[in-house]
Amino acid sequence: MAEEKSPIKELKEKLLMDPKPGISKLSQEEIKAADQFCEGYKPFLDYARTERDAVKYSIELAEKAGFVEFDPDKAYKAGDRVYVNNRGKALMLAVIGTKGVTEGVNLAIAHIDSPRIDLKPSPLYEANNLALFKTHYYGGIRKYQWLAMPLALHGVVCKTDGTTVDIRFGDDESEPCLCITDLLPHLAYEQVEKPLKKAFNGEDLNVLVGSRPYCDEDESELVKLNVMSILNAKYGITEDDFLSAELCLVPTYKTRDVGFDGGLMGGYGHDDRCCAYPALMAAIDAKTPEKTAITVLCDKEETGSDGNTGMQSDFLRYFIYDLAKADGVDGWRAISKSKCLSADVNAAYDPTYASCFEAKNSSYVNEGVVISKYTGHGGKGGTSDASAEFMGEVRTMLQKNNILWQVGELGKVDLGGGGTIAKYVANMNVDVVDLGVPVLSMHAPFELISKIDIYMAYRAFSALFG
Ligand code: MN
Ligand code: MN
Repeated sequence: MAEEKSPIKELKEKLLMDPKPGISKLSQEEIKAADQFCEGYKPFLDYARTERDAVKYSIELAEKAGFVEFDPDKAYKAGDRVYVNNRGKALMLAVIGTKGVTEGVNLAIAHIDSPRIDLKPSPLYEANNLALFKTHYYGGIRKYQWLAMPLALHGVVCKTDGTTVDIRFGDDESEPCLCITDLLPHLAYEQVEKPLKKAFNGEDLNVLVGSRPYCDEDESELVKLNVMSILNAKYGITEDDFLSAELCLVPTYKTRDVGFDGGLMGGYGHDDRCCAYPALMAAIDAKTPEKTAITVLCDKEETGSDGNTGMQSDFLRYFIYDLAKADGVDGWRAISKSKCLSADVNAAYDPTYASCFEAKNSSYVNEGVVISKYTGHGGKGGTSDASAEFMGEVRTMLQKNNILWQVGELGKVDLGGGGTIAKYVANMNVDVVDLGVPVLSMHAPFELISKIDIYMAYRAFSALFG
């Protein structure tokens, strides 16, 4: 026999937020569906270490699903699937709606760049019979996390004969990897006295790339020469080709399940590929929507969204203009009626660093997608702050579709801060709010997310696309 609820319990249920942990509300089938979704995510994350890798992998998946390259001079009908490849570093996918863009579009925008270490334009040097690369880190890294671990080199080299060489070195265990050295504790007595900010310097992130000389002749720089001769044999490049290259050092290890129960996934670059992949899959799985659905996978978020592949660029605006022209409406009109989920991660509450979080307004793993009304610093500096009206719309959509969700701020007020692409989209006169996956150890080379939360992100973007 069911126990009778006390009137207070009933009133609490009616008036107060449900304190139950999110995952307990899910059925076994839903948990299984989440686990299955993640089996598709893992190879994506393992391959897509840089924005270029992510674009390549995404186009392959999209083409298999019937997406073709967008031609602004062609007429498209409802249900057509197109993509725009912006310089190999950003990607837009659209599923044309029955109303086209006449009443605005629905946008899911995630970024596909992650914090990492780039090579300088003239990187290679020799010191004490070792060959090294000079580097310049990209995005907000904690420098000490990148020392003494295997690294791979991903990117492109553009030669003066007009050809481009793709480089992907060090992932495979059958080939060597690269590594930045660390100071041994025995000689770190001075270093450990320094504040963290001063203990690790950007200029010290030199990566070891060779140790054997080309030959035993009495010549200088023979280790450097040996490295260059190996690179020349493998990729046909010479030292000055580094000037026109983009080469990134990224972790080599693959995505792994974490915890005895395997409920979490650890990997490099969850920020923000754990939102990019669900946004991509939501576009791929979209049936013909009413409003045209657009997924944008953008670059440069980790360095402030500047540049022609970042969200401060006009590439999305121009794409919507092209679509609007075909529909016979003004582009600015289509944009101002549009809605956007800025698909980015938030910090998950970490009990080990509890003092940095405000428990009531933090996001938690396994509680579903996190909606962040605003990001920014200090007194809401540098944020678009979604309107109550749009928050209401999004909440209703999530509730109606039985999607597990929560709200979250990025840590305690005045403790730090951060931003997303939301404000750049809002500045276009679009309604936008951040919605994404909570991450533990954000920006570390091995970040953790929950399988439930990434699946709920997919469900949320799918619900948006209708
Ligand atoms: Mn991010
Ligand atoms: Mn980030």
